[in-house]
Amino acid sequence: MNSINQRGIGMTSQRTRERLINRLKEQGIKSETVLQAIRNTPRHLFIDEALSHRAYEDTALPIGFAQTISQPYIVARMTELALSLGKPNRLLEIGTGCGYQTAVLAQLVDRVFSVERIEPLLDRAIDNLANIGLSNVICRLADGTMGWEDRAPFDVILSAAAPQVVPPELLEQLAPGGMLIIPVGPEGEQMLTVVHHEAESGEMKTYPIEPVRFVPLLAGITQV
Ligand code: SAH
Repeated sequence: MNSINQRGIGMTSQRTRERLINRLKEQGIKSETVLQAIRNTPRHLFIDEALSHRAYEDTALPIGFAQTISQPYIVARMTELALSLGKPNRLLEIGTGCGYQTAVLAQLVDRVFSVERIEPLLDRAIDNLANIGLSNVICRLADGTMGWEDRAPFDVILSAAAPQVVPPELLEQLAPGGMLIIPVGPEGEQMLTVVHHEAESGEMKTYPIEPVRFVPLLAGITQV
C-alpha cells in the first residue's frame, strides 16, 4: 500500500473514522484492503473547514461549483470493483473533484491518472494530494468523456460522473482484460455499470451492479 504521511492522521477523529468503517462493513464492503485505505484517508482535509465535523458521515458533501465529494460507500464499492481482478497498474479516474477518491485509489494502485473539467477543483485536488504525500497521481484539466488517449491503455477506468451512454473512447482505451466502472443513465435512473474487456475473446461484457446517484458527466472544460 502506498502510504499517507503523518499530517493526514489526525488523532482526534480516530473513533469517528472507525464508526464509518463499521457502517461500510454493514453495507457489504468486504475488502480489508479497501477498508484500510478508507480508514487511512483524512477525508476532513478534502472539504471546507465549516463542514469538517461531517467528514466521516457516509454522505456526499458540497465542494463548490455544484459538485460533491463522493460518498464513502460508493468510493469503497467502486474501489472494491477496481481491485476485483487483481491490482491494477494503471488506472484512469474521470472526475477528480477534490481528490478524495483519487487518494483512496492512489494507495492501492501503482499509478493513477485523473482528469477533471473544473480548473479550481483540480488545483485544490493537486494541493490536497501533495499535502498528504501521495505522489503517484498525475492530474490533468480535460474533458474525461474522451478518456486520456496519450496515456492509454488502462487496466481500470473509473468515472465519478454519469454519462447517458458509455462513451466509446473509454472502451477503446481499456487494456485487454481491463474494466470500466461507470454510472450510466439520466438523473434518477442511473445504474453503476461494469464493462469488462475480456482478454481472450476481445469481447466487451456489461454487468449492471446497483442503482446509484452521481453528478452528470458534462462535455468541455471550465477555466476560471
Ligand atoms: N470523486 C470526487 C467526486 C467528484 S464529483 C471526489 O471524491 O471529490 C464528479 C466530478 O466529475 C466533478 O468534479 C465534475 O466536475 C467532474 N466531471 C464531470 N464531467 C466531467 C468530464 N467530462 N471530465 C472530467 N471531469 C468531469
